[in-house]
Amino acid sequence: MTSVTATAYAAPAPKAPLERTTIERRDLREHDVLIDIAYAGICHSDIHQAREEWGRGAFPMVPGHEIAGVVSEVGPGVTKYAVGDRVGVGCFVDSCRECEQCQAGLEQYCQIGGMTGTYNDTDRQGEKTYGGYSTHVVVDENYVLRIPEGLSLDVAAPLLCAGITLYSPLAHWNAGPGKKVAILGVGGLGHMGIKIAHAMGAEVTALSQSLRKKEDALRLGADHYYATSDPETFSALAGSFDLIVNTVSAVLDLDAYLSLLKVDGSMVVVGAPENASSLNLFSVIGARRSLSGSSIGGIRETQEMLDFCAEHGFGAEIEVINADRINEAYERVIASDVRYRFVIDIASLRD
Ligand code: NAP
Ligand code: ZN
Ligand code: ZN
Repeated sequence: MTSVTATAYAAPAPKAPLERTTIERRDLREHDVLIDIAYAGICHSDIHQAREEWGRGAFPMVPGHEIAGVVSEVGPGVTKYAVGDRVGVGCFVDSCRECEQCQAGLEQYCQIGGMTGTYNDTDRQGEKTYGGYSTHVVVDENYVLRIPEGLSLDVAAPLLCAGITLYSPLAHWNAGPGKKVAILGVGGLGHMGIKIAHAMGAEVTALSQSLRKKEDALRLGADHYYATSDPETFSALAGSFDLIVNTVSAVLDLDAYLSLLKVDGSMVVVGAPENASSLNLFSVIGARRSLSGSSIGGIRETQEMLDFCAEHGFGAEIEVINADRINEAYERVIASDVRYRFVIDIASLRD
């Protein structure tokens, strides 16, 4: 087949509003699948990158790494997927496939050249990558996920980043029965953290700036909820958690939150703010605590997460928007005013 011209939404320059445009998707290679995208989630990382909060970006930039759609064509060597399959694509579309991390299914930590980002990156053939705010995408079958029956594509899309970014550390740090887990920040990532930690059997506390999201968080599976704007929260919860997963997109007083961990407790940071953080090392020394980070999850674990969510009967809580509302949605995400993930209906790009 010849390449496909896709309709997309792109940021033409750093911090510029996104606008409608077209991009070319490559001819299918041996192991490629062409995906007709149905929905694309808006992750806060899209905003960080479109606004160059993480360093220089490549423009025009088509963000989007929470992609759900249907396979519409397959390359000659494809064995894993067929036309009509419901599939997803997350934050990366390739990796070296040979290093220790890739061999272990931890492609997100690829040691040779790093993972190839779904957008704002250059792939291993030297072509720029463009993300999911578009009608089509072409991806190697080995970097494509299967969306289980029972999960509709709109609520499945945010699982490809928000879902796996919480599932991976919760699994790695053994969230489960008998564990007290706090999810810090009730946004796109955080709300998935509440659902997943609850489904894993942990006792879950939601920590949010205000009381505004209390009812929602309890409905999603939190056992407890506290507002971090209330100083009493920090005395009430001192030394109480085995694990805190920090999803906040801004710099925080890490010492205050580390004080909420038990002896041997861990804080895992997944939120990736623009500016550097600092801490007083006595916050970890004084109770043998750990401060760690975690990046999304590998392909194998992402499939495991999708199957886990389907088994437990949940996807993300979403607000579906047409593509012409992306810029407005960005402002609402920044204002922590989303319940709890914006998902773009890509049909609105096909008009
Ligand atoms: P989001 O929907 O905007 O959620 C972030 C939440 O952080 C907000 O809902 C808010 O929760 C809290 N928050 C925001 N500003 C705050 C402030 N100044 N002080 C205290 N709390 C604040 O964003 P997201 O899509 O979940 O992403 C969260 C972060 O994770 C971003 O930095 C993103 O780039 C990063 N990320 C990392 C990975 C990874 O692999 N490590 C993957 C995806 C995203 P409340 O309203 O409850 O206070
Ligand atoms: Zn993301
Ligand atoms: Zn590798």
